[in-house]
Amino acid sequence: HLLPSSASKAPLGKTEADILLSDSSSELSHPFPTETNNDNSTNTQTPPLLPLLKKAKGHYYYPVSGPKILDACGGAGVACLGHGKSNKSVIKAITTQLSTVQYASYAHFRVDPVLQLEKFLCESTDGKMGKMYLMSSGSEAVEAALKFALEYHAWNGQPERVNIISRSHSYHGTTIGSLSASGHTTRRQPFTSVLNRTNFHHLPPCNPYRSPLPREEYLSSLLTSLESLITTISPSTIAALILEPIVGAALGCVPPLPGYLSGIKSFCHTHGILLIYDEVMCGMGRTATSPSHHLHAYQSFPEPDISPDMMTIAKSFSASYLPASALLISTPLSNFLTSHNKVFTHGHTNQSHPVVASACLAVQGTIQSRNLLSNVAAQGGLLLHLLQKQLSQHPNVGDIRGRGLFVGIEFIADKTTKQPFERELDIAGRVHKTALKNWQVLVYASQGCADDQGRGDVIMVMPAYDVTAKEIREMVRRIVGAVREVFDSLW
Ligand code: PLP
Repeated sequence: HLLPSSASKAPLGKTEADILLSDSSSELSHPFPTETNNDNSTNTQTPPLLPLLKKAKGHYYYPVSGPKILDACGGAGVACLGHGKSNKSVIKAITTQLSTVQYASYAHFRVDPVLQLEKFLCESTDGKMGKMYLMSSGSEAVEAALKFALEYHAWNGQPERVNIISRSHSYHGTTIGSLSASGHTTRRQPFTSVLNRTNFHHLPPCNPYRSPLPREEYLSSLLTSLESLITTISPSTIAALILEPIVGAALGCVPPLPGYLSGIKSFCHTHGILLIYDEVMCGMGRTATSPSHHLHAYQSFPEPDISPDMMTIAKSFSASYLPASALLISTPLSNFLTSHNKVFTHGHTNQSHPVVASACLAVQGTIQSRNLLSNVAAQGGLLLHLLQKQLSQHPNVGDIRGRGLFVGIEFIADKTTKQPFERELDIAGRVHKTALKNWQVLVYASQGCADDQGRGDVIMVMPAYDVTAKEIREMVRRIVGAVREVFDSLW
């Protein structure tokens, strides 16, 4: 199914992989079919040109033909340790586990790497979290969080708590539940008829760049809109509120105003609503800025105890050496399960996978032993500084923001009014394509950060945690070159 039709007729002496690598025009079964001549297209429906890769190593991708590509985003902020053999300890941990216990159903056995990983994660939250459910994708972890909230309230004698609050301009995943929670116009559009609009309610996000109000007034208007939504729905029917502490793809690396998370937590606490932080993208060290180098994004805010009732993690959790995500539930929720003898009615065949757990442990061990979070803080500061210095005066660059190695550049048509470009122009896509083709640097493009019509273009820069200052300078040189080239060619 995954092979081109030519591969089934492999000439003698040639493996199917040989044929795949040598035939760059192969039609792979891929969500974006490989195209050869559409890279100048402005039609967002046209599948993008995808280079066929020979290998990936360190901070570079090596296509079958053409120059190597500098990885400035690790896919969707995933490859936090770079690529391939550069992380021998991770590969060794995976292969060792493969030959020890490669699989054991979580319903029948306990295995050491899973137990160790749970311990590591709970300790990383200073014991605020008390239990881990290990899965494969961010969407699964979010789906599990929403379901846990519903089942917990039912156990607790409040089955009428069936409503979920999230925010517009949010992305929480691709499954029906997680997409119902998401407020991402373009990703929801084809599925609106089946998305749950009865139980899912969206608040405006906290996006200081697009606020018409001064900061204090903006903050209080956001909290007032939460209060009125809670009142409208009726507090006793709300199960959970989910948000990203620092918003990734939906807004482009936007931290909230000081006081926002504590305000939200206080409302949730008052009304018995479970607070879920979706740290799939911004967590696991990606947004480290302080000298204390916290692993989780919510820990980077000075506000006292804003820890959630549940949180989801993925991406930098396993650096995508293997697919991994987790739902963490708080110690009180975990204690509730124990004291009431309850088991969450949820599970996947490959949940608590021992090889995945060993990969995550090795990735996290590498981050710790190489003290990489201090590098995230240092190089993140340099990245933001250089991009702001070289691009903030550009007439089509509206805002450059972020934390740690999580930096977004928002493009606008008019600097004074902050008016976004029309969606059809696909400015973010153009920057991405130009950066890849002419400057050999991979950045992550996203649309929809400005309004409900899917307008608003942003690119995200999310290099690996061991990026050097020299590589940051080179990334910035290429990104700035690509941005200038796109707008010079437009006007
Ligand atoms: N939540 C957030 C904040 C994300 O950024 C993503 C994916 O980008 C998801 C959930 C879904 O994760 P996955 O694509 O692994 O299903």
